[in-house]
Amino acid sequence: MDNKQMSALLEILNDSVIFDADMASYSTLRAGGRAEALCFINNLPLLTGVIGFLNRESINWMTIGKGSNLLVTDQGIKGAVLILKGELAAISRRSGNLVTAGGGLSNRELIKYCIHEGLSGMEFLAGVPGTLGGAVMMNAGAYGEETGSFIEKIGVVTSSGNAEELAGSGINFSYRKSSIEERSVIYSITLKLKNGERGQVRERVEKNWSMRRESQPLDMPNCGSVFKNPPGGYAARLIESSGLKGFKIGGAMISPKHANFIVNTGDAKASDILALIEVARKRVKEDSGILLETEIRVVGQ
Ligand SMILES: Cc1cc2nc3c(=O)[nH]c(=O)nc-3n(C[C@H](O)[C@H](O)[C@H](O)COP(=O)(O)OP(=O)(O)OC[C@H]3O[C@@H](n4cnc5c(N)ncnc54)[C@H](O)[C@@H]3O)c2cc1C
Repeated sequence: MDNKQMSALLEILNDSVIFDADMASYSTLRAGGRAEALCFINNLPLLTGVIGFLNRESINWMTIGKGSNLLVTDQGIKGAVLILKGELAAISRRSGNLVTAGGGLSNRELIKYCIHEGLSGMEFLAGVPGTLGGAVMMNAGAYGEETGSFIEKIGVVTSSGNAEELAGSGINFSYRKSSIEERSVIYSITLKLKNGERGQVRERVEKNWSMRRESQPLDMPNCGSVFKNPPGGYAARLIESSGLKGFKIGGAMISPKHANFIVNTGDAKASDILALIEVARKRVKEDSGILLETEIRVVGQ
């Protein structure tokens, strides 16, 4: 990105840009390199405007939520990273059981709202530390429930910069995957929830939280499950059977508490984490014949 492009970005976004941003601070693994520009975007006209500008200037861009499923390489990201804030991270409307929110809304805020309103459905997202946009893109799920089942419609800005609405029924959701175009930005989501009772919704949320606290290494930076579960099995069991719990490369360690989690013990480089992923994949393949597929997304050069 040259100086002229940087000045133009500053002007479009009213100074809400960090250049040469340390992406470790924007990823729950607390590892990885820098991004040329980190852009905070508050509303839809700004979003379409900035994407139009980046496309015209042939600058690469991508969107992130809380970086809770991301590994940024040590070489970092060439181009712009977009983060949705303000109007694009708020609950904007409730009409009966339909709730509309911005793609940048945190799951935590959504759950708080659902408890307050006595709306049931999204309790399974309690303890999944991302945004609603990230949850839709990844079809985040837990305890047999998935985000995709609750989507009435979404608003996206396509990779070419046009805002469109997609009906939930027209989107294919599968295990940690959606058919939404990879580079589009999910800026708005309408969820179809169920009437519930405040106390019961809160109880289910607290139960999910305590199950996570018991089974996951939440005291160390991590990005949740590293690998997808293979059909009919559990990645964690396979990694544990290969004797890899506690195995370390540099500052990255396979969690002794949950073998499908890699934790950053303090000074992990992205390359340590990538090396550990390869060791786990190779050892599990040798021991069980199963080739594990990563759930986390590796981004950067
Ligand atoms: C402790 C812990 C527990 C976890 N438990 C679970 C679990 O039980 N189930 C589960 O499914 N996941 C789990 N995860 C993984 C992660 O939280 C989810 O995948 C989450 O949905 C990712 O959301 P995010 O906003 O952080 O997305 P990011 O990690 O920032 O991005 C993930 C992908 O989504 C894209 N993306 C993000 N926001 C948008 C948007 N607005 N528009 C378009 N694309 C977007 C990014 O480009 C990227 O490709 C866990 C993670 C942690 C750290």
